[in-house]
Amino acid sequence: MAGIYPLKGVVKHYDWGGTSFIPSLLKQVNDTKMPYAEYWMGIHPLGEAGVDTGGNLTTPLTAIIKDLPYLFKVLDVKDMLSIQVHPSKAAAEIEFARENEAGIPLDSPYRLYKDENHKPELMVALSDFWLLHGFKPMEQLVDILSNTVELNELLPVLKESGYPGLYKHIMEMPQQEVNKILQPLIDKLYDEYKKEGSDKMNEGYWVSKAAASFCKDGNIDRGIFSIYLFNLIHLKKGEGLFQSAGVPHAYLQGHNVEIMANSDNVLRGGLTTKVIDINELMKHIKCEPTIPEIITGEVNEEGEKIYKTPVKDFQLSVFELQKGDVVSFDPVATEILLLTEGVVEVDDEDTVVKLEDGNPSAVVFPGASVFIAAAAKSVVFRATSIK
Ligand SMILES: [Zn+2]
Repeated sequence: MAGIYPLKGVVKHYDWGGTSFIPSLLKQVNDTKMPYAEYWMGIHPLGEAGVDTGGNLTTPLTAIIKDLPYLFKVLDVKDMLSIQVHPSKAAAEIEFARENEAGIPLDSPYRLYKDENHKPELMVALSDFWLLHGFKPMEQLVDILSNTVELNELLPVLKESGYPGLYKHIMEMPQQEVNKILQPLIDKLYDEYKKEGSDKMNEGYWVSKAAASFCKDGNIDRGIFSIYLFNLIHLKKGEGLFQSAGVPHAYLQGHNVEIMANSDNVLRGGLTTKVIDINELMKHIKCEPTIPEIITGEVNEEGEKIYKTPVKDFQLSVFELQKGDVVSFDPVATEILLLTEGVVEVDDEDTVVKLEDGNPSAVVFPGASVFIAAAAKSVVFRATSIK
């Protein structure tokens, strides 16, 4: 197979999603205000994209290719997602085999490892974007625990047993004690944020939001501690961040594109109603200070801005084009293009596919050079893998 074809992705209506960003990208009317959380472009069994092969026929992408090492997504995060950690590849292989041997069915809610792959993730912000990523460096962690009276009692724990000890302490604390520490803090913040409160670089803003969403039957979600423990990051449009194995993270708000290895291995650590297995979480989380490395991308001679990461499962780049610009590239694998702004024509001198709202995505197979011509100021992402 060679050439370029329009790609039809799959929408995921998770309840944390926004109601207008993805519908407008897909030019769909959303009168009922249904949440459109994610748009998947890939061959994941829970959401396989289709290829428009002409004559109004859609062929499943897996009928054409057997393997795609990555899954490419658009996300609209209105309400925060759970805190999560992904295992390394070596660890995933061991744990997947162990759960197989134990006879835990793949679709059981107690099954933690769905495959034997790692799940590195790279995101690039399409708007202002807030997230949690890794533990704060020591000085900042001591600062926030000192300046938040209700959390003062965690300081000696950090001093005596370091990051792993502190995290274990909050994750294994009896629920009653969690409530006792966090309730006064939440009450205080509620009053503050009722008045004004939209400083999204203040942990308290997110704690208030989390308290409203994740406290059931008077029990407060202990993930709220992690909002103070982790780096709170604000990415501007076009900035990227990579999540490697073991680094805890949680998306809080904004629009982004995300590319990841084909895996479903997620260990949760709070801000969720799903199962939390503390032992498994503690096995894989890196309890150490993290200095966030914001990826701004490197522009090559072709005007293609590449977001480099240490993994070979995927590579994401973007073309930021002015009206009239023409750029070209040589596909090296099965690649996916996604237009997030503007209008472009993509051609390989054989076929032409127009990308615009309503039809923002195409799959490209290797074989010939591909040209992108911008009919307006446009932004086109290119997802590929490294051979
Ligand atoms: Zn993740």
